[in-house]
Amino acid sequence: MLEIHTISVPTPYVPGPTNAYLIKNHPCTLVDPGPETEEARKGLLEGLSSLGIGLQDISRVVITHSHSDHSGLARWINEQAGSEIYVHKSEERKLQKDYIYYHERLPFLAEAGIPENVLNEIFEDKDPVVKPVLPESGVVLVHGGEELDFTGGTATVLHLPGHSSGHICLFEQASGILLAGDFILKHITPNPVMEADPADYSKRTPALRQYLAGLRRVEMMKIGLILPGHGKTIDNSAETMVNAQKHHARRLEACLAKLTGRPLNTYQLMREFYPKIRGFQIYLGISEIFAHLDYLVEEELAAREERGGVSYYTKKSA
Ligand SMILES: [Zn+2]
Ligand SMILES: [Zn+2]
Repeated sequence: MLEIHTISVPTPYVPGPTNAYLIKNHPCTLVDPGPETEEARKGLLEGLSSLGIGLQDISRVVITHSHSDHSGLARWINEQAGSEIYVHKSEERKLQKDYIYYHERLPFLAEAGIPENVLNEIFEDKDPVVKPVLPESGVVLVHGGEELDFTGGTATVLHLPGHSSGHICLFEQASGILLAGDFILKHITPNPVMEADPADYSKRTPALRQYLAGLRRVEMMKIGLILPGHGKTIDNSAETMVNAQKHHARRLEACLAKLTGRPLNTYQLMREFYPKIRGFQIYLGISEIFAHLDYLVEEELAAREERGGVSYYTKKSA
């Protein structure tokens, strides 16, 4: 069995610290090292040293997804220790130096009907952490299904998109432990973050559909314990998967209820749920609402019409 330890790495973000997981078996592997900040570097090094591990002992770093609170320190570890970095193909693209976060998303923001001053507010809310970038060598791309062998155990890579198109989890069948990244958290519902479809950048990924499929898939698996990317360990896996599905079913219903008898655009509908959020949180709100609207349109429960480049939605009558 794998010997897995949690290291709490500080972040400047709202969800709080990131849980980095050290798998002490050979080859020594670190999952989600945390953001590229001095505080995080210090926290990680202290955590490793309390477990009798130095940076040089780390052979592999696994990044569950590209978000900076998980992936940022991977390049530094690669440079310091020559560790290989395992990441999903869809995330690799987002971890390139020249990748600009909003580029592919600009048409979606226009389609959402966001007023110009609000758009500026989103763009001006700068990330407090530098953009994570992969090193030039030592990157191993995974697609899901790979087995990572250790002395004394094996972990399987599971591709579970939705929060991010290339989100992966590690599953140790022998113990039933799932290293879950942001796939599932105890007290927060992960955002189905809006992204351009790698197969056709003019389209959004069906983030909510992908995410719900992942929840159903994990619900069927025999998971003993979930070690999430933030917050506390989850010991009631199946129930947590069901609750997350119920949360989205309720949110889909709530969206439909607000679209009865009057068309709303994505920004207007987002403000119905989140009247007060500011800055980057508005982007996340838009992202969440778009995910639900795309799902409702695909399911033919809502109708979409375009007016002046903005999509408006209404509930379809039964
Ligand atoms: Zn994330
Ligand atoms: Zn996170």
